[in-house]
Amino acid sequence: MLLYESTSTSRLYTKFAGIVSNRPDALFSLILLIFPGAMSRKPRIVILATGGTIAGSAASETGGSYTSAKIGVDDLLAVIPEIRHLADITGEQIASIGSQDMDEQTWLKLAKRCNELLAQDDVDGLVITHGTDTMEETAYFLHLTTRSMKPVVLTGAMRPANARSADGPMNLYEAVATAVSPESHGLGVMVVTNDTVFGARDVTKSCTTAIHTFQSPNFGPLGHIHAQAIEYQRKPQRKHTTESEFNVDQIEQLPKVAIVYAHAGADSALAVDAFASAGYDGIVHAGFGNGNFHSKVGEALHKATQKGVHVVRASRTGSGAVTEAGEVSDTELGSVAAGLLNPQKARILLQLALTVTRDRERVREMFRAY
Ligand code: ASP
Repeated sequence: MLLYESTSTSRLYTKFAGIVSNRPDALFSLILLIFPGAMSRKPRIVILATGGTIAGSAASETGGSYTSAKIGVDDLLAVIPEIRHLADITGEQIASIGSQDMDEQTWLKLAKRCNELLAQDDVDGLVITHGTDTMEETAYFLHLTTRSMKPVVLTGAMRPANARSADGPMNLYEAVATAVSPESHGLGVMVVTNDTVFGARDVTKSCTTAIHTFQSPNFGPLGHIHAQAIEYQRKPQRKHTTESEFNVDQIEQLPKVAIVYAHAGADSALAVDAFASAGYDGIVHAGFGNGNFHSKVGEALHKATQKGVHVVRASRTGSGAVTEAGEVSDTELGSVAAGLLNPQKARILLQLALTVTRDRERVREMFRAY
């Protein structure tokens, strides 16, 4: 009997040790089970508001026209009193803009504020309300420049705050539910909308108006949310947050990188020449297919790389990777393949890479790592 007990106890222990080594959050849950007082306070979440349609106001509840960024963070929270059951919440207004006006100065301000708050012991996670137009860019920028395992979750809405069936309140509620979940630790920056959790690297706005606009074309979402329970399916594998070498705390200005878009019969060699002459540090070419371009544009890009401009080959297709081996030789052109990053995210990685190095091979390594 004694033997049976000790064997089953040891089996239980071994089983639990296995769970804990694979799932550190299980340890956290067990501590809470044994010592319910171990977390006597509710999680504390800070909401950083930047504007967008989630804070937008429409002339009519069912009409199409509205103005972004009219409603402050306290009024956004007032319509979802249940959110206070999930966490102690405070709000800060970082900006009041439609995210089409998002710029690098606001990114730097946001990243610096996120890092200050994430370093505080009494802050357990951050939620950022943001317009949907450039949310994927801000999310990826923060994914590479915040340094914490604590969750950082962006959310927004496709319908203004006073629209019939506004999607903002539920999105905000689910963003907070994601930020307080122990399972969200270490996943980097996330985007939560429409009952879905996306990773910052993969997510993109895919539809102009639909509430299911956010998608991750190559891999699908990280998880789904139902009745505030989050079911994760996968974890981001590339380097981010605590493993990132990019630190913008002392940076006031990011390197200048432009995007040039390919089309049949393109005259975009003009744009490449113009950016190179205007002193841009880098150009991302949103090319055809696997990062291809018209031969005249290729000549302009080659001239640019010879002048020291960093060129990244991305694709306008919307999914799939731009590979190092294909119709273009990056070694001959002096360019870097964007991999699975879309042009707007390749631009962000190039900007951050150029804050650290001007060495082309190191930039290539960064595009393989982040
Ligand atoms: N133009 C708005 C913005 O990005 C669209 C939205 O939020 O859905 O701020």
